[in-house]
Amino acid sequence: MDWTKKELERIQARGLFRSLKAIEQKSGTRIEICGKRLVNFCGNDYLGLAGDPRVKKAGAGAVKKWGTSASASRLVSGNFSIHLELENLLAKFKGAETGLVFPSGYQANLGVIPALVGKGDLILSDEWNHSSLIDASRLSSATVKIFPHSDLSALKKMLAGAKPSQKKLILVESIYSMDGDLAPLPEIVELAEKFSATVYLDEAHSTGVLGKKGKGALEHFQISGKNLILMGTLSKALASQGGFVCVSKAMRDFLVNRARSFIFSTGLNPSAVASALKALEIIESEPERVAKLRGNIHFARQELEKIGVALGVDPTPIIPVILGDPDQTVSASKKLLVRGIFVQAIRPPSVPRSQSRLRISLSAGHTRKEISLLAKSLAEII
Ligand SMILES: *Cc1c(COP(=O)(O)O)cnc(C)c1O
Repeated sequence: MDWTKKELERIQARGLFRSLKAIEQKSGTRIEICGKRLVNFCGNDYLGLAGDPRVKKAGAGAVKKWGTSASASRLVSGNFSIHLELENLLAKFKGAETGLVFPSGYQANLGVIPALVGKGDLILSDEWNHSSLIDASRLSSATVKIFPHSDLSALKKMLAGAKPSQKKLILVESIYSMDGDLAPLPEIVELAEKFSATVYLDEAHSTGVLGKKGKGALEHFQISGKNLILMGTLSKALASQGGFVCVSKAMRDFLVNRARSFIFSTGLNPSAVASALKALEIIESEPERVAKLRGNIHFARQELEKIGVALGVDPTPIIPVILGDPDQTVSASKKLLVRGIFVQAIRPPSVPRSQSRLRISLSAGHTRKEISLLAKSLAEII
């Protein structure tokens, strides 16, 4: 397989070679790589629940009760009562009729979007959408039109240009994963209603994060929408693994029959289900965690502003420090490692060319001292 070597050389020459780093220990925001202790500023454990003793106990308890695997797809013999419990709690949290969980967020997008639209239908997709949304769009065989990031007039033009008979699906994220900015959701929902389109909202980074109670973008903007499908992941603030959509009962029945990534994959692992259930219960009973995250975001923005980092307008846990050149970004990440800070360098294809960046993500689990160390270390190296 000589061609793989050649391709790897090409990737290396462009400064885009990626490799896996082994984390040897992890406790909250503290990790160890190559024996070196670091503060992790590139995880998605937004509420600091992935190491919470109650969540761990729930996960371990489910292994004791149900075993280590669902051992079959949900439609065969892998559908446990806790799956349904989780789906009901997620729906209640998000204010929907019911929910459906998938083995991952990626699989949720890959299963649901091609079930909703197909040949002859139209997908309108924000240019900054996550790869799972892009792949799902390709898999659907629908016509895909990409609008410039959060450009409402471009979106409106595309909607106006569609055939009235065409099914139209607008794909957006509540918080964009690489830049941390919010979608202009109220306006998008209004446009969707006007043109009889459906909005598919990926809430991977906003669940547990946006809104006073962490319910997501609808709570943040204080809006509701009929033609709206909410998707999220259990793997970020919900401290587990798996993906979900919140939908009507009829839509759930439809997806159980049509979403191929649901039908042909083993049911979500029982320990992941129980961990997510417990994390969700904690988020509902301890809204102060969401407030703590918000406090950390404001503190970090103040500290970073002082050292001259250009900040986006939306105060979210994702803060990109754009350096541009991939090699320079990798070298900055290495310099942070020496100072006890772990922030990965994000390069193409995750972000556009000349937009390589250090992508900081904050958690309620970070202390002010850790955030100050981040700012001090950044000031030394950029
Ligand atoms: C992380 C992420 C996903 C995928 O979720 P997983 O559960 O990790 O597969 C989907 N969409 C967005 C925007 C994400 O950031």
